Amino acid sequence: MAQEKRDYYEVLGVSRDASEDEIKKAYKKLARKYHPDMNPGDKEAEEKFKEVNEANEVLSDPDKKARYDQFGFAGVDPSYGAGGAGYGGPGAGFDFGDLGDIFGSFFGGGFGGGAQRRSGPMRGESIRASVAISFTEAAFGCEKEVTVERSEQCPTCKGNGCASGTTPEICPDCRGSGVVTRGTRTPFGVMQSQVTCPKCGGSGKIIHQPCPDCGGKGSIRKRKTIRVDIPAGIDDGQTISLRGQGHAGRNGGPSGDLLITVMVRPHDIFRREGTAVFCEAPITFAQAVLGGELEIPTIDGKVKYTIPEGTQTGTVFRLKGKGIPVLNGRGRGDQYVTVTIETPRGLNKEQKEALRKFDETLGENNHEKQKSFFKKFKK
Ligand SMILES: [Zn+2]
Ligand SMILES: [Zn+2]
Repeated sequence: MAQEKRDYYEVLGVSRDASEDEIKKAYKKLARKYHPDMNPGDKEAEEKFKEVNEANEVLSDPDKKARYDQFGFAGVDPSYGAGGAGYGGPGAGFDFGDLGDIFGSFFGGGFGGGAQRRSGPMRGESIRASVAISFTEAAFGCEKEVTVERSEQCPTCKGNGCASGTTPEICPDCRGSGVVTRGTRTPFGVMQSQVTCPKCGGSGKIIHQPCPDCGGKGSIRKRKTIRVDIPAGIDDGQTISLRGQGHAGRNGGPSGDLLITVMVRPHDIFRREGTAVFCEAPITFAQAVLGGELEIPTIDGKVKYTIPEGTQTGTVFRLKGKGIPVLNGRGRGDQYVTVTIETPRGLNKEQKEALRKFDETLGENNHEKQKSFFKKFKK
């Protein structure tokens, strides 16, 4: 089992919104403190030194940092599983209370600070948003709109970041690869390491005349309202993924996805488990005794249902096919209705007298349950 990794920001002792400069300063300070040269033979310091370097490697690289911010370790370490558009980054706390109909939330970045840090094609970041719908909208499907802010390819320069009529020059220092090899002198000799090319910032190219619309980034930030078809049968917490509706890719890479988490508002009388719908039906004492036709609410509207004479409280009856449609499938679940007898309250004198008289007419055989209960009790 791998040891629990510490959060990179925690390792460097900076806040999540620390600037590039603050991160650099924090790293330098800690690297000096834990450098093996300063702590000969100290295993703990050596571990700390490694940890600090790893944190810096991610947080000093805007691209890795963006992925780490969005997906945690999974975004920067392939051994952590899926990587890419994995789910379960810094969680979104959902609050049903003051939820508007729709709110889009934007997690992670991936644009803003300079979009091209790598020379090869890169898939755009995914965007996560959520939408709140009603119980019946979830049952039958609906169409909603979600507004997101995303980076899109700059239409003026088609993403290459150059003013019209010019083309980017391949960086002479890294020959377009975006990284250069550097030798660092250490007490153990010269260490070779690959670093982001300082001349081109890792993009592998140099733009002499940047596109006036995007400032050379190749992408622009846009607020976009996207229509979402929510399929019938969707349940609370499920996610709809819209391919290619996330942030624009870089260097010709595809766009990321838009991941929309659906939140279903609770219903006043219906409860749901999978495709089954549950509800209660309060009936009167007389209805329970005499039986008769009830009007039962379903998600399709009211239906009539006849209960037999002598229906007991707690009896559950099933309305076939009145449940939730199967998501991306055929058929529907059933509705289960639990009958509860409401004991009448606030009777007047005459009513009470009438009831007493009526009760005196009843014999043992009118109350099977009570009869067997006392029989068992005597044994
Ligand atoms: Zn442009
Ligand atoms: Zn370069």
